[in-house]
Amino acid sequence: MRPSLLDPLFASLQSLKGIGPRFAVFIAKLCGPLVVDLIWHRPFRVIDRRAAPPIMRAMPGDIVTLEVEVEHIDIGKHGKPSRVRVSNNTGFLDVVYFKAYEATLQKQFPIGEKVVVSGTFDDFNGKKQITHPEYVVPVARRNEIPAVEAVYNLTAGLPSKSLRKSIQLALERAPELPEWIDAGYLKKQNWAAWQKALQTLHNPQSDAECAPQNPARCRLAYDELLANQLALALTREKTRVLKGRSLKSDGTLQKKLLSQLPFALTKSQTEAIKEIGTDMQSGDRMLRMLQGDVGSGKTLVALMAMLQAVEAGAQACLMVPTEILAQQHFASISKMMNGIPVTITLLHGKLNAAAKREALEDMESGKAGIIIGTHAVFQDDVRFHNLGLIVIDEQHRFGVHQRLALSDKGVTPDLLVMTATPIPRTLTLTAYGDMEGSRLTEKPAGRRVIDTRTIPLGRLDEVMEAVARKIKTGEKVYWVCPLVEESELIDLAAATDRYAKMKLHLGEANVALVHGQMKSAEREKEMERFTKGNARLLIATTVIEVGVDVPDATLMVIEHAERFGLAQLHQLRGRVGRNDKPSACLLLFAEPLGEIAKARLKMMRETDDGFKIAEEDLRLRGPGEVLGKRQSGYPDFKLADLAAHGELLQTARDDTKLMINKDPELESERGKALRHLLYLFQYDKAIKTLRSG
Ligand code: ADP
Ligand code: MG
Repeated sequence: MRPSLLDPLFASLQSLKGIGPRFAVFIAKLCGPLVVDLIWHRPFRVIDRRAAPPIMRAMPGDIVTLEVEVEHIDIGKHGKPSRVRVSNNTGFLDVVYFKAYEATLQKQFPIGEKVVVSGTFDDFNGKKQITHPEYVVPVARRNEIPAVEAVYNLTAGLPSKSLRKSIQLALERAPELPEWIDAGYLKKQNWAAWQKALQTLHNPQSDAECAPQNPARCRLAYDELLANQLALALTREKTRVLKGRSLKSDGTLQKKLLSQLPFALTKSQTEAIKEIGTDMQSGDRMLRMLQGDVGSGKTLVALMAMLQAVEAGAQACLMVPTEILAQQHFASISKMMNGIPVTITLLHGKLNAAAKREALEDMESGKAGIIIGTHAVFQDDVRFHNLGLIVIDEQHRFGVHQRLALSDKGVTPDLLVMTATPIPRTLTLTAYGDMEGSRLTEKPAGRRVIDTRTIPLGRLDEVMEAVARKIKTGEKVYWVCPLVEESELIDLAAATDRYAKMKLHLGEANVALVHGQMKSAEREKEMERFTKGNARLLIATTVIEVGVDVPDATLMVIEHAERFGLAQLHQLRGRVGRNDKPSACLLLFAEPLGEIAKARLKMMRETDDGFKIAEEDLRLRGPGEVLGKRQSGYPDFKLADLAAHGELLQTARDDTKLMINKDPELESERGKALRHLLYLFQYDKAIKTLRSG
């Protein structure tokens, strides 16, 4: 149970004075639905209102706060702005309003009296003026104008004043909390207590105080990282308590598989298989991540590991993020396993009742040796006979929370996670703590460099012609439609639109369409039309992003490439270049391109090295963006900035290790304080792993 001390922070936004349903929607969109989300919404700079220069010396763009006397009001007519002439002994200026009621102006600016005006100074054709000042108050109330004001990210429809006020109200809800940071470390850093640090964070006195190096920010960033590391560690401990088991085999099935493949393993595949094999044989539980660029042959490595589990008398399960992928893996693995006596079972949410029942029975009876499935594997009615190994493909879609759900099922098999997105090390740490790592660094022999070009959308016709030519030669083409928003429906409109045009252009039989909203049977049918050869062009939303393997595809067209992240583009590009023919990738972009988009597209033209691309993406966009927010299992830090707080992360990790050794159930005084911290950052599930959680 969450300590009641925290309840006020976990109330809805509307429980704050002045936030009605309308603002609640805006604020929720901006930072989240709870009061606590507001306190994490940090300012990124300040407005300093302390400048009060002589009017004659003020420069355009200056924020000034001036004490002035009101001379006269000139109400604007026929769409002209209203002007209030004010002055002091350093000069005069006009306060300008484009829309204002006469009565309001007269009340705010009593003729002959003194007022304080704060806003941005401007010089308009030689006329000194302030347009729409943020503050106008009588001299007696000048302390209502803040000397320095925090500036926050906003969303359309939400005035900065309302947001600031809401945040201040939210801050009043922040209680003093027991200290969870190690006393020695806190002292060494000279950090303030949590509540105090929060106050400082939201009341910066200069731009510099908004920087990541600011002590208050550092403290709170450390809190966030500590919560993250602790939640990971607890999850890990929980899945580690039941001792792992030794999965030994003499490699008969593996040898058989290798003997019937038309190619030899790459050097790094061989190494990875050995590392994994050793882990599985040992009595400890395996927690290993296999990183390898698109097309580096991870599936085969996974299959070899699964065969070791099967031969040792256990079951192995391969989990993937989408049904399309589950089906593809099922098909390709079944093909590779041709003649090897292992039952391979497919399980996903859209199987018909009979197929599902059969799959579940086979899993429970132990008949199924290798299970390939989606999230459906997490569901309550799923029981394994003897699950020894779980392989999670494209793991960044399975966050900490899903992994917790898995351990909720009480299964503690060996775990191998695979990712095709090369991930910078700092990011890996925040999602995977100290998981072991294997990397596939080379591509299978025979792969060619993909000729990558960037083309403005204005030349779409030429691209359509190029597609038509490719298709005539019998090769296959992917066409990825833009991700407009995080909304399947809008993406869908773009894809169906393109599909209609392409059908006209190339003939219906040549074009297939897949997207996330299709029924799985229909999608499978479309996919098959493409993979088996009658359709040569596949129009898709990003559902094909991961894993899809169609060796005779040689052209990848990405529409509105500027809207995709680097890692995503890289993944998509990796879909082609999988056979011995030259392949190309056309990145269509809308003009004008922003600086970051330009840099990204240039990077894509210049390199094919996934790790290099990932580091660059991190540099260009910051960790929050690198993997795509919603989908990623990577935490979207609000206070920590991994580029700046790498060292804090390291300390949080070390501190967590000590803590877990000393007080694994978080029962000491500090342990209890740490529970508060976990609740604050909404790692409730991690607390549930504790005996008294
Ligand atoms: P990814 O790492 O992207 O998951 P896959 O496992 O899908 O890559 O492999 C891509 C393709 O390369 C598959 O068709 C697979 O059969 C093939 N492949 C895997 N290993 C090798 C190898 N050592 N030599 C040649 N082709 C290979
Ligand atoms: Mg794969």
